[in-house]
Amino acid sequence: MPKGCDRVRFDAISVIPAVFEGYVSASILGRAQVRGIFEFHAHDLRTWTHDRHRTVDDAPFGGGQGMLMKPEPIFEAVEAVSAMAQTKPHVIFFSPCGKPFTQRDAERLADYDRILFVCGRYEGMDERVYRLADEVISLGDYVLTGGELAAMTVTDAVVRLLPGALGDAQSPVDESFAGSLLEYEQYTRPATYCGLEVPEILLSGDHGAIDRWRRENAIRRTALMRPDLLDGADLTEGERAFAQGVIDNREQGEGGC
Ligand code: SAH
Repeated sequence: MPKGCDRVRFDAISVIPAVFEGYVSASILGRAQVRGIFEFHAHDLRTWTHDRHRTVDDAPFGGGQGMLMKPEPIFEAVEAVSAMAQTKPHVIFFSPCGKPFTQRDAERLADYDRILFVCGRYEGMDERVYRLADEVISLGDYVLTGGELAAMTVTDAVVRLLPGALGDAQSPVDESFAGSLLEYEQYTRPATYCGLEVPEILLSGDHGAIDRWRRENAIRRTALMRPDLLDGADLTEGERAFAQGVIDNREQGEGGC
């Protein structure tokens, strides 16, 4: 459901709900919670088991390594947690088989009032639970021990886009991926450190020249480190030719970022 109220509510269902507390309560996220920008509720999946051992996993049909998360507690948990607030949540599951998470997804998810994460563990989940998902997200092409880090990653990337979360001094507008380019290099005091100089133009006070240097630097960096991003970037013809020149030079052995 698209955003209508101010405070975004995140819920996470997990077998280790205690791991969220420290991260979402510290620093920028902690302050954003205090300011009422978002709230985060972690729920123990074992609450929705009915046996003495509070079992959430079982062996896979057909054999194979490890244990899988059983469907019943997950179906019950998603239904119960969904009913904890009036707004129906946007439900996200995590899996290496999901869609790779990008800044575009963070921007899109920042429009929801309510997001519910379901975190996997062990060898993953019984496939039937995925019908509960509005989307399945992967953090990247590697395998984690659980979905909790993925839930914290998505929460962090979304919350810092919410109005007021970063405070007045910082802005998410000019950063890496905002316009499909990586961010330009940045420097702070001292201007010389152990013989290492800050690019002179940044000390010039000429803001037009600084803006041009930053733009060129961002294009150069993207061309060197992530040429795959250039296709989706908003570049003039001249800038595109410049990016191609950077790539061609590197191929001839110039190297470096
Ligand atoms: N056997 C599965 C991996 C299970 S890892 C496979 O090969 O695809 C256990 C849980 O960790 C998953 O259910 C998921 O919730 C989480 N997880 C692992 N890697 C992840 C990744 N790259 N992105 C998002 N979640 C991940």
